[in-house]
Amino acid sequence: MTTNSRVAVIGAGTMGHGIAQVCAMAGYQVALFDPMPGATERALGKIAENLQKGVERGKVAAEDAAATRERLRAAADLRDAVADAGLMIEAVPETMELKESIFREAHQSAPAEAILASNTSSLSVSRIAAATGRAERVVGLHFFNPVHIMKLLEVVRGRDTSRETVDAALAFAARIGKEPIVVTDTPGFASSRLGVVLGLEAMRMVEEGVASPQDIDRAMELGYNHPMGPLKLTDVVGLDVRLGIAEYLHGELGGEQYRAPEILRRMVAEGRLGKKSGRGFYDWEGK
Ligand code: NAD
Repeated sequence: MTTNSRVAVIGAGTMGHGIAQVCAMAGYQVALFDPMPGATERALGKIAENLQKGVERGKVAAEDAAATRERLRAAADLRDAVADAGLMIEAVPETMELKESIFREAHQSAPAEAILASNTSSLSVSRIAAATGRAERVVGLHFFNPVHIMKLLEVVRGRDTSRETVDAALAFAARIGKEPIVVTDTPGFASSRLGVVLGLEAMRMVEEGVASPQDIDRAMELGYNHPMGPLKLTDVVGLDVRLGIAEYLHGELGGEQYRAPEILRRMVAEGRLGKKSGRGFYDWEGK
């Protein structure tokens, strides 16, 4: 993408550490920044663990794992992280004000030609871009969890994102071994918008007694070759997360297909959040 081979990853949580790992594995020099005490160290530790597992499974050569670790560094602050970067990827919590402040500062501190990307899963890339003086160089790079395993990369084109920036994002995706799709900056992009509707409809079918959750999932797994049915996937993602996305899409797009079914609201109110709480549409205790 990039005029150079340096990437700054801002936010070292679930997504940030994975993004840093795949970039470093692809040969980028990566600066990782997170203001939470211990967060960057924990992230670097997790990456080292992932790499070690890769070595044990014969998927990563020991010398590649070592070289990957060498290419990662903890940055002292945001300015330090982006100072010589060709690409910044932001992966901080999903609030517009926080993202705007990071993009404002990154615009001031990063080289003029650097591309600034957000891993937002729902916020408007065009609005984030407006906080900078380089909206043509701002793009969404929506990764999926776990980053080192999931192949998809949604490249989100904001209102002012240039053709060159999209091309650079596609070249970046190829270099890190992801399969990109290009999506216009619209609520839910392509993945959440379609995936959530399937999940909500499956819940309505449970409510109506069409079939059991297991059988509805089997319909998609065996009949449509989905690796995981929509209700099991909802359990894995978290019912509260799915409810939040449904409410957001319903507010933004207005269609009845995004309205959260009663069963989803009730289960969230009861604390049946899926895998993380032990129960959702499935029983996950001890699994
Ligand atoms: P997370 O809470 O695991 O990590 C966020 C990290 O950002 C934390 O370590 C936090 O300390 C750090 N942070 C907070 N303020 C910061 C600042 N000012 N500067 C730098 N770092 C700061 O969250 P996550 O799940 O990794 O999500 C990050 C982003 O990725 C969100 O926009 C989310 O919507 C998106 N996303 C998440 C997933 C997912 O499955 N978790 C998937 C795709 C996209």
